[in-house]
Order: sequence, then structure tokens, then C-alpha cells
Amino acid sequence: MAIPISSRPTDKRYLGNSDSSHMEVHDLDNEKTGANECQIDEIIKAGNAVVFTPDTLEQAKSEGYDNCKFCIGGSER
Ligand SMILES: [Zn+2]
Repeated sequence: MAIPISSRPTDKRYLGNSDSSHMEVHDLDNEKTGANECQIDEIIKAGNAVVFTPDTLEQAKSEGYDNCKFCIGGSER
């Protein structure tokens, strides 16, 4: 289940961008902070950040989220 959050999670590994034109999942343990990379802070600021229960890539995938190409790779879109 995806749960909206309003600040950076400290106890989660995966963070999703629920914006309907994005729908990607990021690995916070491997976050890329370059100009056009993960943009985690921007996702949170825009109110589009979600975390998953359980906190796994498989769970995010099952909810329709695709791999971020920067921190996970292997985008399937
Ligand atoms: Zn990412």
C-alpha cells in the first residue's frame, strides 16, 4: 500500500513519485542528487511522495511504479 508523506522518510528505503505523468520509484540508499536526476526533495515539495508497505521494490512495482533510471535503473517504460 502506498502512503503519502510530507517530509523525507528516515526509516524507508523506497520512495515513489505518485504524479500520474511520472509514477516512478526511487531507492533512497542510492539517491542521485544531480540536476535532473532523482529530485527527491522536489517530489516531496510537490506533495507527490509516497512510501510503501512493505518497503520493497516488488511492492512498488505491484502498484504500478516503474524504476527510476538513475538510482535503480532498468526502466521498463
Ligand atoms: Zn531515483
